[in-house]
Amino acid sequence: MFKTLMGLIFILSLFSCNVNKTDNSDSLTKTEDSTSISNPHLMMAVLYHQQAAESRALYYQAYNLAQLMLDKDLENKKLKGKRAVVVDIDETILDNSPFEAAMITRNAKFPEDWEKWTELAKAKALPGSVEFLKYAADKGVEVFYVTNRKLAEREATIKNLLEAEFPMADTNHIFVKLDKSSKTERRNKIMEDYRIVLLVGDNLTDFDGVFDKASPEDRTAKTDEFKNEFGRRFIVLPNAMYGDWEKAIYEYSKTSSQNDKAEIRKSVLRDF
Ligand SMILES: [Mg+2]
Repeated sequence: MFKTLMGLIFILSLFSCNVNKTDNSDSLTKTEDSTSISNPHLMMAVLYHQQAAESRALYYQAYNLAQLMLDKDLENKKLKGKRAVVVDIDETILDNSPFEAAMITRNAKFPEDWEKWTELAKAKALPGSVEFLKYAADKGVEVFYVTNRKLAEREATIKNLLEAEFPMADTNHIFVKLDKSSKTERRNKIMEDYRIVLLVGDNLTDFDGVFDKASPEDRTAKTDEFKNEFGRRFIVLPNAMYGDWEKAIYEYSKTSSQNDKAEIRKSVLRDF
């Protein structure tokens, strides 16, 4: 009787081991599936951009504030000079998150396929951007687009902007990148004829040259120095998907491998 009982327990325990083993292997497979995506660091940023209504709300908030500040300027009759508003394009007025999503689903990395994407000219306008720029244009304010898209992308970019109904989308108002990434010279060129009332962008280099190639520490320090400009002359939009904030972490290295970058990202985390 005792032997039979022990035998039964033994058989049951084997069965239970098998069940556990099957469970473990199932969960392992599931875990592997969910982590085997490429560019995993991009996932939450792209989801936030595409799925969080809070991201939309931030765009509306920024463009509502831009309009308030423009109105304030327009009401001040003492101010001299032709007015201009300067906006960046990518992640400021056009939504390239489908391209970023493709970097995850196609296991690719920028600049792969970027020009294929811009050539399609189908990026959607970001919330509030068309309305604000049309409002500015209607008030007699010149609108300039200062972008680091290349000259080869200009035609498709104009097509995209026109289809999205942005005003003044022509070669006289779009300043693409020619030789330098810095936007300072292009802003200075506009300032020869206009007073820039507002600058709108998702990258600090859209506002002032002091941020060009700056370290994370300098970016923080300069942002503090410029604190009174934000929400007044500088209107900032959220972009957690990419930007100089990320490049600065890698010291603007163009040679670091994906593994090196992942290590660097981990090493700069501040925990308690
Ligand atoms: Mg941008």
